[in-house]
Amino acid sequence: MPESLTAEQNALAEKANQLAQDVMLVPYPTPEKARAAVREASKAAGFFTMTQPAAYGGTEADQLSLTIVREALTSHNAPLMDAVFGPSPGVLGGVTNSLRESHLEPLLAGEKRSSFGFTEPDNVARPTFGIISDNRLSVTGQKSYVTGGAEADFVNALVDIEDRGPSMVVLDTNLDGMILEQKFSSLDGSHHAAFRFENVEVPTDAIIGEPGKGLPRAMRQIGDTRMLFAANACGYMIWVLNMLNEHLLAKDKSGTPRGDKDVVRWHYANLRIKAYAARSMLYRTARLADSGENFVNEAMACKAFATESIGEIVDTAIQLVGGVALVEGHPLERLYRHVRAWRLAEGASDVLRLNIGRGILELGKGRI
Ligand SMILES: Cc1cc2nc3c(=O)[nH]c(=O)nc-3n(C[C@H](O)[C@H](O)[C@H](O)COP(=O)(O)OP(=O)(O)OC[C@H]3O[C@@H](n4cnc5c(N)ncnc54)[C@H](O)[C@@H]3O)c2cc1C
Repeated sequence: MPESLTAEQNALAEKANQLAQDVMLVPYPTPEKARAAVREASKAAGFFTMTQPAAYGGTEADQLSLTIVREALTSHNAPLMDAVFGPSPGVLGGVTNSLRESHLEPLLAGEKRSSFGFTEPDNVARPTFGIISDNRLSVTGQKSYVTGGAEADFVNALVDIEDRGPSMVVLDTNLDGMILEQKFSSLDGSHHAAFRFENVEVPTDAIIGEPGKGLPRAMRQIGDTRMLFAANACGYMIWVLNMLNEHLLAKDKSGTPRGDKDVVRWHYANLRIKAYAARSMLYRTARLADSGENFVNEAMACKAFATESIGEIVDTAIQLVGGVALVEGHPLERLYRHVRAWRLAEGASDVLRLNIGRGILELGKGRI
């Protein structure tokens, strides 16, 4: 539970609260200066290296510590969250071949940008595939939703390699046959790209880890991102509910506090129940992850519940605050757009439910 933290963990949360209040929420003359200030302060606070491996000067924080910091930061609805943590290895974690020098090290040093190519269009005749011949791999296929793909130096793509199986492969975006088909933005303001691969040739060293073992590697990264979404969702819940507190204690046109109305109070309490349940799940799941146990089902449940709850909480908060909350630039309007994507990205809620059901009914696996 969030309340049974050690003194050290509470101090970590406090440090994150201070970073948000003293550095992230203050005005700067330019966006570049704001980003640089957040990065410097985050490094000084020891947050920047939390997502980086010890072998590269990182501190490799455990899941609970990351959860504490992420939740505390987002509970202020502070901007520039992406400047707080340093680049993490993602699916390149633990590579020992030439990819270490050519891609992992520059990625961690901030010299190269990576992206993740997993999702494909519905109408593909054959999922992205690769054929190995003379130590060269030739890749053909499509990826339809690669976040940051247009600005990335490489795509870590899931490729079904003939006779080996699904593998993660590093594809530099400037290679012959890498066709950037479309650039687009989504409701939350993030930028994406669609790629077509036409016989893209790479050395077999571009295969990350053992060929055929790409899915578990990809799923580990997806699992970590699910925990990130859940922690950020819980932080935003705290922010929305604190904002609603003030709103409901203030008086309306008739001179009585808005929260005096039963129906308003009912909605507000309902949102508090959701936040209580989501935060309890989040901290329990983070602890399970750190215990080394398999937490795949818990992470799916946590991600689905937290992202759906923050969606409902922001939506209801808009209803309770009224039309002003829909005016462009209002924090609730921005948050509404920001959190909507989470119910699809890193596993659609419906699909996560199906997977949990399948685990229990068909595989006899899982605790929930
Ligand atoms: C902001 C954002 C960023 C993203 N970034 C990336 C990225 O960097 N890399 C990447 O590879 N992808 C990325 N995605 C894509 C994301 O992973 C997919 O949108 C998500 O997995 C759903 O896939 P889909 O869009 O193809 O929808 P579909 O798979 O078609 O799912 C749509 C709906 O169909 C139903 N459905 C789907 N499958 C089943 C099933 N098996 N059984 C029953 N019902 C089902 C569900 O209701 C589901 O919600 C991103 C998406 C968003 C919104």
